[in-house]
Amino acid sequence: MSDKPIYVTEPYLPSLEEFIPYLEEIWESKRLTNGGPMHGKLEQALCEYLGVPEIALFNSGTVALLTALQALRITGEVITTPYSFVATSHSLLWNGIKPVFVDIDPKTLNIDPKKIEAAITSQTTAILPVHCYGTPCDVESIQKIADNYNLRVIYDAAHAFGVQDSGGSILRHGDLSTLSFHATKVFNTFEGGAIVCPDAKTKQHINNLKNFGILDEVTVVAPGINGKMSEVNAAFGLLQLQHIDHVIERRREIDQTYRQYLKDIPGIRFLEKVGKSLSNYSYFPILIEPEYPISRDQLYFKLKNNHVHTRRYFYPLISEFSMYRDLISAQPANLPVASYISRRILCLPIYPTLEKKDQEHIIEFISNCETT
Ligand SMILES: *Cc1c(COP(=O)(O)O)cnc(C)c1O
Repeated sequence: MSDKPIYVTEPYLPSLEEFIPYLEEIWESKRLTNGGPMHGKLEQALCEYLGVPEIALFNSGTVALLTALQALRITGEVITTPYSFVATSHSLLWNGIKPVFVDIDPKTLNIDPKKIEAAITSQTTAILPVHCYGTPCDVESIQKIADNYNLRVIYDAAHAFGVQDSGGSILRHGDLSTLSFHATKVFNTFEGGAIVCPDAKTKQHINNLKNFGILDEVTVVAPGINGKMSEVNAAFGLLQLQHIDHVIERRREIDQTYRQYLKDIPGIRFLEKVGKSLSNYSYFPILIEPEYPISRDQLYFKLKNNHVHTRRYFYPLISEFSMYRDLISAQPANLPVASYISRRILCLPIYPTLEKKDQEHIIEFISNCETT
């Protein structure tokens, strides 16, 4: 075994030569940002690829989240999941909104709709669920609750690029969905993100907000932000899109290999696939149950000592970070499922260029782990 580290992910990069013509076009046009030709082309290409009506590009997934909350004028309290990347609930705090954490479903690891109603107060204005690891949320139950209580729904779909359910793109659900194109995500533009919205009017409003609220040369209508994606990032997205089918296919093969060789190991559990969804294989999470010879943390550190850098996504829970514990009343005791999963979960390396021998090494290591 070589000492070359294997990380949980590695960004996908097409060859540099393929990117040069895009850069030449940008140099030629002298348009660097502010909704240039690359930006327009990528928005259109993504609408087609994802099968969504409208998409507004952003410079990050986090700014997309911030702006989605602004666009719908969300205030007061928002019900969300503690089992996510911290940007999900940070976006609420940046808007002066109180996050209210609700426990997750043990099968999907997404917010448990059965527990949402009990968390609704007179201050609740919206629900902010996450399609965790790209697994679709129970969108129907969530929408029913939202309709009954007149709440908005914004999906943090940072993990869900290209994911479909039986009716089409998962991004069509709720009032808005946000994406992240960060380097570590399935589809990356170095940094980037987007809001998927249902109609042109909403998109126009979002476009104003991401450009300082400027309507025209002499009119500013809202306290907007600089959320624009640059031409270089958009151009890179156009190139990435040509490789995305290959990227997802390679991820599918790696996912299948893990499932095949780890399935009979006592104490190793996978997440089950829900319904007829089309996955993007963005992560490969496993649960280290008590029957496994060593604990999740022991396995994590043992792998690390062997140059395999897995990640404990999502540990700690957002609600367990001290800044959140001081801020909210919800205690970990109210989140038994999320708390249990967070202590058992381990995300294994999965990315298109993961070598066969490296994956075999990881599988062998996990299969032969002893108590010592
Ligand atoms: C990556 C991620 C974000 C943030 O996206 P950035 O593009 O890094 O700002 C938000 N939510 C979730 C669930 C994420 O995984």
